Amino acid sequence: MKIFHCGHCEQLVFFENTSCVNCGRLLAYLPDRTDMGTFETDEDNTLQSISPGTKKRAYRLCQNYTENNVCNWAVDVDDPNPYCRSCRLTRVFPDLSQPGAREAWARLETAKRRLLYSLILLELPLANKTEDPDNGLAFEFLADPPPDTPDAVPILTGHDNGLIVINIAEADDAEREKRRHLMHEGYRTILGHFRHEIGHYYWDRLIQGTDDLVEFRRIFGDEREDYGEALQRHYKEGAPANWTDSFVSTYASSHPWEDWAETWAHYLHILDNPGDRRGVWPLAPPQAGGRAHDEAGYPGRRPETPVVRRDHRPLVPVDLCAQQPEPWYGYGRCLPVHPPHPRAR
Ligand SMILES: [Zn+2]
Ligand SMILES: [Zn+2]
Ligand SMILES: [Zn+2]
Repeated sequence: MKIFHCGHCEQLVFFENTSCVNCGRLLAYLPDRTDMGTFETDEDNTLQSISPGTKKRAYRLCQNYTENNVCNWAVDVDDPNPYCRSCRLTRVFPDLSQPGAREAWARLETAKRRLLYSLILLELPLANKTEDPDNGLAFEFLADPPPDTPDAVPILTGHDNGLIVINIAEADDAEREKRRHLMHEGYRTILGHFRHEIGHYYWDRLIQGTDDLVEFRRIFGDEREDYGEALQRHYKEGAPANWTDSFVSTYASSHPWEDWAETWAHYLHILDNPGDRRGVWPLAPPQAGGRAHDEAGYPGRRPETPVVRRDHRPLVPVDLCAQQPEPWYGYGRCLPVHPPHPRAR
């Protein structure tokens, strides 16, 4: 993910911040600009951006920012919708009278905004179900019924025709870890769920019924294989012993649709990693005559592939800003500090 700065004092700020830790100015993310906005309030209580690039543009905070404290995005002042681009996709949110529900909702919305960040940069269709009832997208965050409810059916996280349902128990770290262990998964996060399920949605939108289905079947296999039987077989027999030769996860080996969704999710994970201080996504080829760098960002080896540290923060070539004329995704300003040398950590 790109690194943001306060539009007033240049302090480093992060995607989830609501105010600058240095100057205290109000912050809100501007999805239309894919940048963090810094604001001052004018006489009639409208938020005026003081960030370069959006200076003097008027915004208001998303209603879920002001009333529920589960959002930090802004809405253009002329937009009649009180909710931001992310929140307007949420159709059902948890019952806030239940203990822990607001915290769970906030965690889910935070992960959803990270998802939306990537989808907006990739210019993928994001209409909600009000705008496009047939092909639009909606999220429902649901809780399991109380255990003593007769014929209680547990809420399954999944996707169906643009509706993505997430069981809010997934927002509880201990519960999610328990489920990860039970399902023998190496990796289970809220953001991972969102990225996987949205992969199913975009298969419907981008592959189903198009000429790309031929190429899809060549790469992922024939999705006409019985889905229910494939999953049953997967849960009974597990992944093939050599699954690492062809799949990004054991679950990807269960059915071509799951292979697609797992691959889609991993692609988004990778894209999210190598953002640098200018917001550049996967490393651009070095400019002709430019300096090459080793994987720690020091002169030496040419960086051909994105390099990711164990803590999933990017290794940034020291003078990438000087090398790159224009990033092809996102935009930003240079961080006025150099990344620490990894050996000092
Ligand atoms: Zn500041
Ligand atoms: Zn919002
Ligand atoms: Zn799936």
